This record gives sequence, C-alpha cells and structure tokens, in this order.
Amino acid sequence: MKNRFTYICESCGSIYAIKKDLMLCPLCRENDLEGKPLKGVLKVQLPANLKKNKKVFDAFDIHDYLPVERKYFPSLPVGNTPLIKARNIEKESGYSNLFLKFDGTNPTGSYKDRASFLVSAFANKFKLNNIALASTGNAASSMSGIAAAAGQKTFIFLPSSAPKAKLIQCLQYGATLIPIKGNYDSAFDLSLKFSAATGYLNRNTAYNPMTIEGKKTASFELISQLKKDIDFVFIPVGDGVCLDGVIKGFLDLNFLGLIKRIPRIIGVQSKGSRFIYDAFNRNIFNLNYKASTIADSISVDAARNGYSAVNSLKRVNGDVILVSDNEILMAQKYLSENSGIFCEPSSAASYAGFLKYRANIRTKDIVVMMLTGHGLKDIESAQKIVKLPEPIEPDIDFILKKLRVR
Ligand SMILES: *Cc1c(COP(=O)(O)O)cnc(C)c1O
Repeated sequence: MKNRFTYICESCGSIYAIKKDLMLCPLCRENDLEGKPLKGVLKVQLPANLKKNKKVFDAFDIHDYLPVERKYFPSLPVGNTPLIKARNIEKESGYSNLFLKFDGTNPTGSYKDRASFLVSAFANKFKLNNIALASTGNAASSMSGIAAAAGQKTFIFLPSSAPKAKLIQCLQYGATLIPIKGNYDSAFDLSLKFSAATGYLNRNTAYNPMTIEGKKTASFELISQLKKDIDFVFIPVGDGVCLDGVIKGFLDLNFLGLIKRIPRIIGVQSKGSRFIYDAFNRNIFNLNYKASTIADSISVDAARNGYSAVNSLKRVNGDVILVSDNEILMAQKYLSENSGIFCEPSSAASYAGFLKYRANIRTKDIVVMMLTGHGLKDIESAQKIVKLPEPIEPDIDFILKKLRVR
C-alpha cells in the first residue's frame, strides 16, 4: 500500500485500506460510543511516493494531497480563504506579524466546509447519496450546503437550542432537520444509531476520518500564503478536530519536506467548555463534564476527538489555554472594530487566546489566528455587547446636535 492513501489508527498504529464503511479502528474502537471521546480515530496517511514530486508552494494543488480524486468534489469554492494582516491591531499591540485567517468566507460561512467538502467527495466516490450527522450548528449548515451542491441528501441531528441562523441555513439548503430536546452529545449518539439503522454515511466529527483530513487544508494554505515558517497558530477548540486537522496538515507538510518546523499550536477553549484543557494539562478526561458557554461552536461536554487531539498536541509540543466568555465577546467586538472581520464568538476565542498568551510571544513572531466562522451566524451573542440605538425623528439639526459632530 506504499503508493496509496491509507488509514492509520492514531492509538495502535494499525494500517488499513480506505473503505466506505470503515470509520474507527476495529481493534481500538469501543462498542458503546455514547458520551465519550472516541478510541481508535483513524487518520489518513499520505503515500510515500508523494514525497518525490516535491512542488514549490505557488505550484502546489491541495487535491494532490487529499485521499479523494478531484473529479468527485462538488463545484463550490471551499477553502483558499483570505489571510489578512491585522495592521491596526499590530500598531496598537506592538506586534509586527499578526495574521487573521478568515474562514467565514467559505460558502456556508465556516471552517466546517473544509471537512464537508471532502466528506461529500468521499460519498460521491462511493455512491453514497445520503449523509447523516450531529452538529452544534455549523457542521450541519455546512454539510447541508455542500451536499446541496453535490446533489446529496442530509439528515441533521442537533440541539434545538442551536443559533437560529444555522438552523435556517440547513432548511434553506433542503436538509432534513431533526432538532433534539437534548444537547449536542445526545445528538451525536443518536445520529450514529440512525446511520447504523439506515446505512447512511455518517459525517460526525472525528468519527468520520475525512473530517480531520479535510480540516488539514488550512495549514497548506497558510504555508503557501506566507511562504515562511510560522511561529504560532491559535485555534478555537471544541471537539478538537479543527486543532487535530491543522496539526495533521503541518505534519504532512513536514513529511513532504515543505516545512522544516511545526508552528507552536495553541488551542483555545472557553472556561465553560474545557474538556481538552483538562485532558491536556491535568490528564483528566471528565466524562461527566457539562459545558456551558456563549461560544456555541466550541460548547461540548466530552470532546469526541479528545484522545487524538491531546496526543497530537503533545507530539508537536502545543498548548491549550482557557478564556472567559466575557473575554471572547470583547475580542469579537475588538476584531470587528479594528480589522473589519466580524467573526462568531468561538472564532474570537483565537484572538482572546493570543491576548492571554502574549507574554510568551516575541513581537516579531509570525502569529496566525484562525477565525473559523462568520459573525452573522449568531447575531444574538454578538448583540450582547452592542446596543441598538432608538429611532429618532428625521431632523438634521437634531441629529447633528445629538452626534456632536459639528
Ligand atoms: C466547529 C467549530 C470550531 C471548533 O472545532 P472543533 O473541531 O469542534 O474543535 C470552532 N469554530 C467554529 C466556527 C466551528 O464551527
């Protein structure tokens, strides 16, 4: 299997051929997956011969490094999101290389499109026309939209408390929505039972290996956009698949000889959703943990990719830190006002994390903050920190006086 993409089990190292119904390592997986991090998560391994056809950054095509051939992908432009130099923030903070990677420009407005794109192509290749998944909101709207482009059907399990915009997105894209009177964790388990009963492809994060693999693409883009080594990457963390995917991307780039060192990867969690923080820093995998944070996209009880994310972080000498909901909301507002990027609360955690961690960062270091989702996806949270002015009479003298601009 030297010249083929394969799966490798992140815990026991067994190698498998990629098959349509292989999701977790049969040796390591547990029968009962309910409410726990998954054991035996599979990662895609690049064929060794890819090393030989080394390309310069400008010439490389991400499709060469993905396990599904280009022809199977839907015709939506996913990824290649802008990397923005945060000039105003640099000026104020004294740092000279602060970059915002804004994934809100993806077709459905979040980083999740990177995973859905590959899952959709995988489903297409194996002629699986129905896809089921659980989501806190973004994976749902993402899979619905990408599947709509591909002509596939989606069945979405999610907590009925998900932000309205994300629910409406799913319905607009024509997905079958199954809102649960319960949290994300119960939706996760229910969707697995649904897939088992119907044979529909399951896109649950970490469970489907294509989710981690799809999320590696941002690392490839970062290297081709910056064309030099990166010192720090800040990533919001819920289930830990974005984090793991980004690390996987840098490890692949290193394997291919395209980078010499892996950036310092800093995961950022909310104080109200700290499963991976506790697992990484205190070796506590608290299965009874109950998450509660304003950043819905990173609100998870037991991080499904907990084991793999912690292992990957240790492997690359990364770190995980906590920020408060208030710090998240302040960071969101600050970013909107000073960079023109309006991202959702979970994404703003990246910037809040940078502020918290900056004592460890030199002013010349190259720092990337992953802004994973668009702010318009959750207006209610964003509204907590601004005040809509009362309407006034259309009287110019009154307005000039009130605004004190003259
Ligand atoms: C899903 C999501 C995250 C967190 O990703 P995990 O893989 O769950 O850690 C962060 N930000 C946004 C906008 C997301 O949708």
